[in-house]
Amino acid sequence: MRLASVVGTRPQLIKAAAARPALERRHRSVLVDTGQHYDDEMAGRFFEELGLPAPDRSLRVGGLSRAAALAAMIERLEPVLVELRPDAVVVYGDTISTLAGALAAAALDLPLAHVEAGLRSGDRRMPEEQNRVVVDHLAGLLFPPGPEAVANLAAEGIVDGAAGRRVAAVGDLMQDLCAVTLPAARDASPLAGFDVSPGRYVFATVHRAENRGYAAVREWLAVLDGLARADGARRPVVLALHPGTARAIEEAGAAVPPTVRIIAPQGYRMTLTLQLHAAAVVTDSGGVQREAAWLGTPALVLRETTEWPETLEGHGGRGALVGRDAGRALEALARLAPRSGAVAAAERRAREAVVPPAGAAEAIAAELERWRP
Ligand code: UDP
Repeated sequence: MRLASVVGTRPQLIKAAAARPALERRHRSVLVDTGQHYDDEMAGRFFEELGLPAPDRSLRVGGLSRAAALAAMIERLEPVLVELRPDAVVVYGDTISTLAGALAAAALDLPLAHVEAGLRSGDRRMPEEQNRVVVDHLAGLLFPPGPEAVANLAAEGIVDGAAGRRVAAVGDLMQDLCAVTLPAARDASPLAGFDVSPGRYVFATVHRAENRGYAAVREWLAVLDGLARADGARRPVVLALHPGTARAIEEAGAAVPPTVRIIAPQGYRMTLTLQLHAAAVVTDSGGVQREAAWLGTPALVLRETTEWPETLEGHGGRGALVGRDAGRALEALARLAPRSGAVAAAERRAREAVVPPAGAAEAIAAELERWRP
């Protein structure tokens, strides 16, 4: 098949890189980059680190508001897709670039495949939830990562075999990449570059829209400060700061407490390294939630809902939803990562963590091969 993969953000570059070897073996695949993330730290470095070839088409739609970006992407995608005439358009996840790719494919009557279909947080105010719902309803070939996502789709009337659709649970593409990168991440020596050591720091990432408001920024900064001071410990929080969140902190005029060490966004392998050896992870990222769960690192989620319930305690993971509530966060930290055992737990995890490959990349490539839209 001739495939056009539409990507644009950091997690999509990571997913496209995870899928690429399997897709390349069976298909001819063209990479179209919308440019939603455009600087080196959020985009450029991942091409190099993950062996992704330069995009075949770059649409350079960066730095716009949500609606303006969506409109510009669709407008620029149309001639590119007309020229490429792919047998299918492949979109990943739940971003504006994914929605633009899906709408452009629909407008041109091109078959659409959605990787990471069927995820639902139940919160329709989230831009990502709006995007994924629309894209799932437009797609002909859907790749939910697991049975919960299959059930979510069925609840909306999207079932395998009905209306010419194929719904195939293929596993999680990000798990494939996590599995192959884990051996390199076991090496804790890069931590010295951040002046921390295993089990003696908390790793954080924050980027969701709901955490960028004036009040929200202050609230989660206070949560991070509380976690760093918890239990009389001085366990710094290392925050890999997303540029959009950096702007939000600045606009809110919020002060970053000295317990929170800001570092630049990191590459993929370094991010896994920082997660594997941390006492705990604090995040609102979907990807980081899952990676922490696979690695066995306790995760405090700065949200009230999640589309990845299997990462939560009681459901197979070691995560807890804490919102922006310092009390809940401290309670979860004390339960999941008590200070007394944190160093030994991190050292054990670094030695013993096992992440089996999900086989998602191969399953996606095979399903695309069989698909007759
Ligand atoms: N990530 C990264 N560098 C960072 C922070 C995250 O490489 O500084 C990786 C992370 O390990 C995961 C992916 O980016 O693989 C998650 O992307 P992000 O948090 O931007 O989006 P989400 O998963 O919430 O859609």
